Amino acid sequence: MNPLVHVIGAGLAGSECAWQLAERGVQVRLYEMKPKRRTPAQTADYFAELVCSNSFRSDNPNNTIGLLHEELRRLGSLILATAEEHRVPAGDALAVDRDLFGQGIEAKLRAHPNIEVVGQEVLQIPEDGIVVVATGPLTSDELATELAARTGRERLAFYDAIAPIIADESIDRDKVFAASRWGKGSGDDYLNCPMDKLQYTAFVDALLAAEPLPLQDFEKDVHYFQGCQPVEVIAASGPKSLRFGPMKPTGLDDPRTGRWPYAVVQLRAENRHKTAWNLVGFQTKMRQADQARVLGMIPGLEHAEFLRFGSVHRNTFLDSPRLLRPDMGLQSEPRLHFAGQITGVEGYVESTASGLWVGLVLAAALQGHELPLPPPTTALGALLHHVLNAEQPAFQPSNVHFGLFPPLEPEPGVRKLGKSDRKSAHSQRARSALTTWRNACPLAIRPVDNPVDNPGSDVNSIASPPSEISDS
Ligand SMILES: Cc1cc2nc3c(=O)[nH]c(=O)nc-3n(C[C@H](O)[C@H](O)[C@H](O)COP(=O)(O)OP(=O)(O)OC[C@H]3O[C@@H](n4cnc5c(N)ncnc54)[C@H](O)[C@@H]3O)c2cc1C
Repeated sequence: MNPLVHVIGAGLAGSECAWQLAERGVQVRLYEMKPKRRTPAQTADYFAELVCSNSFRSDNPNNTIGLLHEELRRLGSLILATAEEHRVPAGDALAVDRDLFGQGIEAKLRAHPNIEVVGQEVLQIPEDGIVVVATGPLTSDELATELAARTGRERLAFYDAIAPIIADESIDRDKVFAASRWGKGSGDDYLNCPMDKLQYTAFVDALLAAEPLPLQDFEKDVHYFQGCQPVEVIAASGPKSLRFGPMKPTGLDDPRTGRWPYAVVQLRAENRHKTAWNLVGFQTKMRQADQARVLGMIPGLEHAEFLRFGSVHRNTFLDSPRLLRPDMGLQSEPRLHFAGQITGVEGYVESTASGLWVGLVLAAALQGHELPLPPPTTALGALLHHVLNAEQPAFQPSNVHFGLFPPLEPEPGVRKLGKSDRKSAHSQRARSALTTWRNACPLAIRPVDNPVDNPGSDVNSIASPPSEISDS
């Protein structure tokens, strides 16, 4: 008999994972609690429900998200192929008729001879066989309790607290200074954006005037952990709260004045290459346009390029860098795997990508092959490397962005690339890296290499609008 894999959750990740396994001859038992029970964000009963926007964001492969679309298409993604079938006009975005899309996914999965659908909520992890948990950001309570018991309560989070991340090139180095508080670490680990009293007061006023995104009903009873409060919530607790909190200037000598500034915004390197920096303690529920405007008041960040915006959401996710192996199995219980948003990726496409990877790597393992991770120069690889290796002190989920990629090697004699050329160079490097990786995969499970025929694939002819996840 063919091996059996239990996949829990028929959302984006679970549907993709089940499909990849089934297509490679693996028997899949796919559990979905709908229609008996829905998460608070769901309103429909079909699989792969898009709970908010009906868009998979930009389809332009010069954006990281469009590049990830391209890679998923090339690797035979069920979700991307079905999205294409139900596409609706949306400029350069890939948007779908959500009902036809979800119904289409469900019909394909139910019709697959290797997939058995079980319409029940899983309360406990099946005791035998390989398991993939793909139950998403709103994993049902009983299962979350069970997972916390297996991973350790402190390794499963229920809210994210994401600070904005900006591109290194866009920081005005004439206005910021490198220093660690009290000279700790190597002495210059942080970039510091100093403010005088007038600047600080104007900044706090702007923060308080900005309109936060409304809380979802199921987020209304949120009690933020100390240290995870949105920056605007801290600001609202008193005019000096930020100055005694994340904007504390103590121990930070500004070399231009020899003194501590009135207040400071600290930037911490997001990766070892220092191509991206996060605003320490600036998790926020401000709308993206307000983030760009208000945070642009910070000295040195007037022209900041946001690689990702900040957010605070109800979100169930694991401390993956400390828990998971490259096949997304638990280090302490290798038969128990995770896919999708629960691993710390964020967004429809990223969750799909995570599901595709787990499907491929498990199918390979069941046939006795070890599948190497895609290289971090690909969008898929960059995302998986973040999940497994993020160096942040407290792991936070991420959508895909260029700050997750290794920097481009400078070409001898070529001047520093502009933003649009950089994006194009990243895409070209990713394209050939994916080809090399795919060709090295064991033949029996090798993903198809679908020709890329979407109009955006002519990388040199495309302008590059910013890649961003919708406000949610
Ligand atoms: C309110 C909200 C708005 C969002 N808006 C956007 C957006 O606009 N754009 C975007 O890209 N991303 C958005 N996201 C993120 C998005 O939901 C996820 O990225 C994506 O759906 C995650 O895919 P997933 O497969 O990991 O989980 P899901 O798609 O959530 O799928 C998980 C599935 O598991 C099932 N399930 C849960 N527990 C059990 C159980 N115990 N037993 C059996 N089945 C179970 C659920 O019913 C669900 O079908 C939003 C998330 C939320 C909560």
